[in-house]
Amino acid sequence: MDPEIGEAFAELGLSPEASEREVKAAWRRLVSQWHPDRNTSAAAHARMQRINRAVEAIRRAGFTAPAAPPTGAGGDEDKRTTEPPARTIDRKVRLTLEEAAAGCTRVLRGRIVDACAACAGAGFRLPAEPCPRCQGAGTIRQRAWFAWVGVQTACDACLGSGQFRPPCAACSGSGRAPARRYQVGVRIPPGVRDGDLLHVAADQFRAGVLPGELNIRVALRPHEWLRLDRDGSVHCELPVDGFAWIANRPVDVPTLVGLQSLALQRGQLEYRLEGQGFPVERRGPRGDQWVTITPVFPPQMSTDQQILLDQLIATTSGPDAESTDPRLRAWQQALRRQRRR
Ligand SMILES: [Zn+2]
Ligand SMILES: [Zn+2]
Repeated sequence: MDPEIGEAFAELGLSPEASEREVKAAWRRLVSQWHPDRNTSAAAHARMQRINRAVEAIRRAGFTAPAAPPTGAGGDEDKRTTEPPARTIDRKVRLTLEEAAAGCTRVLRGRIVDACAACAGAGFRLPAEPCPRCQGAGTIRQRAWFAWVGVQTACDACLGSGQFRPPCAACSGSGRAPARRYQVGVRIPPGVRDGDLLHVAADQFRAGVLPGELNIRVALRPHEWLRLDRDGSVHCELPVDGFAWIANRPVDVPTLVGLQSLALQRGQLEYRLEGQGFPVERRGPRGDQWVTITPVFPPQMSTDQQILLDQLIATTSGPDAESTDPRLRAWQQALRRQRRR
């Protein structure tokens, strides 16, 4: 227990275990006794101030004290009252697949709005003053015109709380300090996945740059050509010119490090680029990239193309053609035997 809080309870004539209800009751009783409007003694004003300070100290301790008091050395308690609560800033970064694979640096800019220091975020002046209408009692005595006896009703100026709360001048009642801008550079390691949460501790920033820690949620932008699998393999489906495929020509394919040349193999539709995929684990070795091609031929051939194709076919399917492929050669020979009959 903070000795200051102990004194505050004593000022109200209460034990430190007193409930919130008992604190309120004691305050009302003391206000009705010591409010300068009612008590003209020289000490009344100072006493009233001490009472208000005590109530405010108790209230604030209730707001900020941890559920269980720290059991360590006495230094812990000092820390509790002087250090602002740790702040966690949540941010989201959107990365391309290439940026996520290689790692990158992101500059995050934003604004931090702290609670007003003057009023601790309450928006009204602390400590609250007794309501001038009811002198802090929370009730007013109304004289009913038909009755001899006055009737107690809740004070409508303070809604029965007994407190007058003028807006805090420092923040115009908003409870917030002026926004502060921040700008921090954050290193994103290679291999982060969609939905990953990166945590950056406060002490990793230069002093004063960011008063707190950072939680960064990663979102990966969909890639036009590449699809990432859980195992780090990257898949790509690509149309290629059918004639280039027949001719074993090289074509450019997209990879995580830009375009790369791939030598097409006639008859082969799937290709593996070893180690060209995504990091299997963060900062780890990369998986493979798989390229599945779809050879595309023109649906309508031009006359020139048709002539060239006829010449090509004549070299392999003429009346005397003998394919080098044993299965096709056997079939060609069988055809010829049939026609001779
Ligand atoms: Zn009132
Ligand atoms: Zn304020």
